[in-house]
Amino acid sequence: MSDHHHDHDHHHDNRYTDMQARVKALETVLTEKGLIDPTAIDAIVETYETRVGPRNGALVVARAWADPDFADWLKRDATAAIASLGFTGRQGEHMRAVFNTPDTHNLIVCTLCSCYPWAVLGLPPVWYKAPAYRSRAVIDPRGVIAEFGLELPEDKKIRIWDSTAELRYIVIPERPDGTEAMSEDELADLVSRDAMIGTAIAATPRVAA
Ligand code: FE
Repeated sequence: MSDHHHDHDHHHDNRYTDMQARVKALETVLTEKGLIDPTAIDAIVETYETRVGPRNGALVVARAWADPDFADWLKRDATAAIASLGFTGRQGEHMRAVFNTPDTHNLIVCTLCSCYPWAVLGLPPVWYKAPAYRSRAVIDPRGVIAEFGLELPEDKKIRIWDSTAELRYIVIPERPDGTEAMSEDELADLVSRDAMIGTAIAATPRVAA
């Protein structure tokens, strides 16, 4: 095994992996002591990560794309507009929707801890809570976004929104071309969790055969 202790230039990707490894190790210890059932944990996480959580936000985005009046309301009072769809925070935190435009891309972070819009996005991803993301999202947002596979044009501005316990953000991505005939449900399928954090954009619809 080679010695890399002289190398302080770790990539943050490795740190994410370290953190995931530590979570896995903790889960293993708790499982071995009979304290948790990993299948149950996986099911709960799966529910919040891929069903209950981000789907709520995706439906908010789809409604905003489909209904200009709703989009206006969302801009003025996101808390009320989102609550009208039945999604409310547990602690009465306020929501603000930030809209991507051709000129500006928005990115959400919590530099202090891990404040996150649970009511619309469910559980935060591991990387959202990682110190590397929290610091680098502010220092080098374009580089961080690129590491997620999204190359933004150099002339596109990036606005960073620092979440707090009182005010949390959701990014409303731009509506992709070729989606004019789609239902709100179909539109919501194009909106990933990461697109509502700002580390991705909305997916392009599959071209009909
Ligand atoms: Fe926080």
